[in-house]
Amino acid sequence: MCKRILLIATGGTIAARETENGLAPQLRAEALLDFVPEIQTLCRVTVIQLCELDSTDITPDIWLKITDCIEQNYAQYDGFVLTHGTDTLAFTAAALSYLIQESEKPVVLTGAQNPIDTGGSDAPKNLFDTFLYAVSGAGGVSVVFGGRVIASTHAKKLYTRSAAAFASVNFPYLAEMTDGEIRNALPVQRKTKNNPKFYHELNTRVAVFTCIPGVSANTLLAVAETCDGLILESYGLGGVPAYLVDAVGEIIKRGKTVAVGTQVLYEGTDMSVYAVGKRAKTDLEILELHDMTTEAAAAKLMWILAQTDNPAEVRRLFETPIAFDRLES
Ligand code: ASP
Repeated sequence: MCKRILLIATGGTIAARETENGLAPQLRAEALLDFVPEIQTLCRVTVIQLCELDSTDITPDIWLKITDCIEQNYAQYDGFVLTHGTDTLAFTAAALSYLIQESEKPVVLTGAQNPIDTGGSDAPKNLFDTFLYAVSGAGGVSVVFGGRVIASTHAKKLYTRSAAAFASVNFPYLAEMTDGEIRNALPVQRKTKNNPKFYHELNTRVAVFTCIPGVSANTLLAVAETCDGLILESYGLGGVPAYLVDAVGEIIKRGKTVAVGTQVLYEGTDMSVYAVGKRAKTDLEILELHDMTTEAAAAKLMWILAQTDNPAEVRRLFETPIAFDRLES
């Protein structure tokens, strides 16, 4: 039987046209489908235009709206395709991984580096591949882009212009999409249920602080003042500069969560290797990202801190793997 897929469109370059103010989303969901008529041979599509935004302007409120939209339509469809600008797509994919858990139906995000009505655009292939993957029935949230399928908690935008814009960081690609076929699918076991768990709250008082040599402890304290959760993008395997350690301790003493990640793209942290990591990890109640991306850690903290501020519970939830976001410890 022909599958029913709900296309939720949010804007992005995929739907953009040149305006007198520069590129901006102009094409609505129906128009996107008109550019790729082959999609109609795969499934029956219904569309919802949720918003028309450059993804620069996407906020956690929109993540919650997307979640509500999927929850309300969950029973009626076999899968969900989300078109989205590429700039914050990795954050949205990560957020949906925590807001929609254990979905047996696919929720697949895509976008494009070039507008769909531009010659040679990457958009038609990305859109077709995304529908193909959604129809395949692989549950959970994922990203299809540039001929590859990426676990939602490991997508990262690496290029501002190239079609292969996204990489899967610290996790293998879930599959490749070549010549209208899904190839080399990774045999992953997802936890899925008939009725996924939907969540409706996020604590947006979360920020990322990237260390640079010489940045003052006062600057770190000032940023932390406005948050309940802070991700410290430290160096290498998780080195925290000596001149920031006391400030981190003070932030934790004020009841805030600090999670240490790294500015280095691949291979994550291991704060037990160097003395500059160990001293912070031993003395302070910090969390560690290990193989998590900053995008996933930020979204996860927003999800956790909306539920609890109890440090032990925050740690338990943060360290519990969800949607492949971190290795089982
Ligand atoms: N600025 C655009 C956006 O994120 C870029 C894109 O979609 O490729 O909406």
